Amino acid sequence: RAKELGRKRYQLFDETLARSVVDVLTLEGELRQALKHGQFEPHFQVICRLEDGAVVGYEALIRWNHPQRGLLLPGDFLKIAEDSGLIEAIDWHMFEISCQRLRRQERTDTFMTLNVSALHLRHDNFDARLIELLERTGLPPTRVVVEVTEGALLDDPERVRATLERLRAAGVGAALDDFGTGYSSLSYLHSLPLRILKIDRAFVNELDKGANTSSTTVVAAVLALARALDIDVVAEGIETEIQYAALHAMGCAMGQGYWIGRPAPLEP
Ligand code: C2E
Ligand code: MG
Ligand code: MG
Ligand code: MG
Repeated sequence: RAKELGRKRYQLFDETLARSVVDVLTLEGELRQALKHGQFEPHFQVICRLEDGAVVGYEALIRWNHPQRGLLLPGDFLKIAEDSGLIEAIDWHMFEISCQRLRRQERTDTFMTLNVSALHLRHDNFDARLIELLERTGLPPTRVVVEVTEGALLDDPERVRATLERLRAAGVGAALDDFGTGYSSLSYLHSLPLRILKIDRAFVNELDKGANTSSTTVVAAVLALARALDIDVVAEGIETEIQYAALHAMGCAMGQGYWIGRPAPLEP
């Protein structure tokens, strides 16, 4: 009996494994097709000034218009796009369309942040290629901010710093995304040429629960640190009026979140 059960379990395991390998290969093939057929598009989430709610910028977020499965979110495909190396081609495609969309807008005083996979930062020519793309699309470099995560710094922080430094010399800003969730090391913060620090929504979420939560302390500390280093702060994932008001009262200058606006196609 035990042997039988054992075999059954083993079989089940085998099937699951087989199915997932097929899934991965299928998805990889679909991602290639999606690139070829222009199924990716950026949605833009508003970044506003908390003082008066004015729109100051946008974060470009990738969406996949899948022909059968509808609109897919990064969580559905980004991991496989990264593992297969396809993310680089997908990102360059996204950067291009995002720049075109922002350029088409009447307003010229907004900025856009682009999420950059850690893989790009291992390449020597990332900054040169981005600058070339901006020249080609006619979007002023000062309107663009690249978002990197703390994870991207783990590999080779010195290389990332040099890349961001060259981008800054060309006018392109840098933001540290999801701040507080990664392997935060305060030591590299001051050496990175950052324009923006993005407080992760995990901390913002907690702000509803009163002034005595540890998140309030963390947010206050991040704001003080950013002020000392002359870096702007964007709070992510603001979902309620209470969170918005709390952040504003604490001196956070900018924010984004469902309460302000959901990611959506950019209206011309
Ligand atoms: P992220 O850069 O931290 O982006 C913020 C995520 O939070 C987005 O999820 C956004 O839709 C979501 N969000 C915004 N406001 C709220 C809110 O009030 N509440 C909640 N619960 N969530 C909110 P999304 O679009 O699913 O993107 C997930 C992640 O995928 C992004 O996290 C980013 O790391 C990555 N990503 C998105 N677009 C791209 C891209 O074009 N290239 C690369 N390499 N990565 C991307
Ligand atoms: Mg981001
Ligand atoms: Mg983030
Ligand atoms: Mg995040």
